[in-house]
Amino acid sequence: MNRRHLEGRISRLEALGAKRKTAEPLLMLIESAEPERELLPDERVVIDRFRDAGNMVWARRRITSDPTEVGQHSEPGGFLVDLLTQFHVQCPWRKITGACRMCQGTPVAGSNSESCKSEQEVEQ
Ligand SMILES: [Zn+2]
Repeated sequence: MNRRHLEGRISRLEALGAKRKTAEPLLMLIESAEPERELLPDERVVIDRFRDAGNMVWARRRITSDPTEVGQHSEPGGFLVDLLTQFHVQCPWRKITGACRMCQGTPVAGSNSESCKSEQEVEQ
């Protein structure tokens, strides 16, 4: 393999990398406390993205009749504290694994994850 051949391969690889899109984050739809029901004629479903952890985004479905509504979005790497708190209280992962990835790194999880450990206090 000579230098010219190698340079050609490098430029082809660079062109291939430039064409590739960045990966879309995995969207985790959390089951809403709202019961499932038929939509009324003026209603539709929007997605509230309440926790953005970069490669993973947690979201919920919500019914709205507001035609301008587009769903709530947290900043990249951020969270919507009211929705995150609401889901953290019910989150099933804490019971299974003892930790909640959805809230990890946010004040909702607590600085020493004490709130994730005290399930009995939360459930009372
Ligand atoms: Zn949580």
